[in-house]
Amino acid sequence: MSEGIITASYVGATILFILALGGLSNQETARRGNVYGMIGMAVALIATISGVTGNLGILVGGLVLGGTIGLILAKRIQMTEMPELVAMLHSLVGLAAVLVGFANFMDPERLSHYTGIELTIHDIETYIGILIGAITLSGSVIAFGKLSGKIGGNPMLLPGRHFLNLLLLLGSIGLCVMFVQESAAGGGTMPLLIMTGIALLFGIHMVMAIGGADMPVVVSMLNSYSGWAAAATGFMLNNDLLIVTGALVGSSGAILSYIMCRAMNRKFIAVIAGGFGTTSGGGGGGASVEDQGEVIQIHAPEVAALLTEAKEVMIIPGYGMAVAQAQHIVNEITKTLRSKRVNVRFGIHPVAGRMPGHMNVLLAEAKVPYDIVFEMDEINDDFPKIDVSIVIGANDIVNPSAQTDPDSPIAGMPVMECWKGETTIVLKRGMATGYAGVQNPLFFKENTRMLFGDAKKSLDEVFKNL
Ligand code: NDP
Repeated sequence: MSEGIITASYVGATILFILALGGLSNQETARRGNVYGMIGMAVALIATISGVTGNLGILVGGLVLGGTIGLILAKRIQMTEMPELVAMLHSLVGLAAVLVGFANFMDPERLSHYTGIELTIHDIETYIGILIGAITLSGSVIAFGKLSGKIGGNPMLLPGRHFLNLLLLLGSIGLCVMFVQESAAGGGTMPLLIMTGIALLFGIHMVMAIGGADMPVVVSMLNSYSGWAAAATGFMLNNDLLIVTGALVGSSGAILSYIMCRAMNRKFIAVIAGGFGTTSGGGGGGASVEDQGEVIQIHAPEVAALLTEAKEVMIIPGYGMAVAQAQHIVNEITKTLRSKRVNVRFGIHPVAGRMPGHMNVLLAEAKVPYDIVFEMDEINDDFPKIDVSIVIGANDIVNPSAQTDPDSPIAGMPVMECWKGETTIVLKRGMATGYAGVQNPLFFKENTRMLFGDAKKSLDEVFKNL
């Protein structure tokens, strides 16, 4: 393929990626957005491969191997494991940036290609690429551990951690100066290796210091970092498309982080600095189950009766709906109630589930109409008018202690105020805490009823009784 056609394909792919992002911003157009993204990626891959001269065997071998692993993983992965998969994929972007950076540095033709200021700029690109890549790599591996429960959710707070971070930052800047100077004389390996070690430690330290309930911000932040790492790789490889694509991922991830922070009422810098939830840790803020009083149980036939009598019903899905895969039966119940002229709406908390948009994806999969699915801000004031709220496998996002207990790890986070309605029915298997590890006073309120059991089985029963 000629240079001109490759450039034209890159421009086409860039436009498709922008259309993809635009499409993904809305549920109705998300599917189309995904298709644009896939076509854009196919165009980008074909154009890039056709521009490569030599070593095609290795390239195709790598593509087939990577593609096969990706395909198998995507087929095997459960919807509930998606956040971990995404974290793992971010770590691979970071690893790629580190490897490309080192390959670039070790290129025997580097010193004959670049001299003077050009060499300095090229070296700084390489250095920054490896730095961001290494932070993304180790940070994402820790995020994977935290999301999959292999590493505890409590923030790990080293004494003098801010000072330590500052020291690591200053050390990296000092090493960059050393690297640039030594590299011009044919050296530079040592400062580059030391910086890589520091960046890996920094990534681990940064994510370990972040409390469980703040993990959504970390996920979107690492998403952003992986974009910047890709953009840095684009600079190293002189590949315009990779620069633009990386910048698109980086900036959209940054915007998402901002949105998540606003949703959780957190300041971005404060989340990154870590330490939320230190007072009570992830292990059980608030009073214990015994201290909070009795819970009132309810059974499926009574739930069905309450729902049939209601005029206004609000469904609040959480992580447990994803675990139970209860979205389809939720849709069946919704259809039945709507046919009985009950006004059913869904309230989606921005951090419900384990990844941004988790609940929207599940509800869309079950074909719940978009126009009855609302964001928290749109419906939170309506709860006093709601007859029955059904909380399906949600916990932290409906925890009133976020408003009342300043020591809670989720203090200050806006929550769905379902207790202001007439009756709240909570579906969960037992009295276990949610991701943030705090007990929930909602379960002990006078107008709350607990329907214990797997959410799908419970809702199947409710449906039969409807
Ligand atoms: P939570 O984790 O707070 O609560 C989920 C509840 O679901 C648990 O208490 C559990 O109780 C119940 N549950 C689990 N399995 C089932 C089942 N099969 N049937 C019925 N119930 C079940 O989830 P929320 O959605 O309320 O809150 C999300 C939390 O995750 C927040 O703390 C958020 O910060 C965090 N987070 C969110 C991310 C995001 O991007 N959205 C990313 C990372 C973390 P029991 O075991 O008793 O059944």
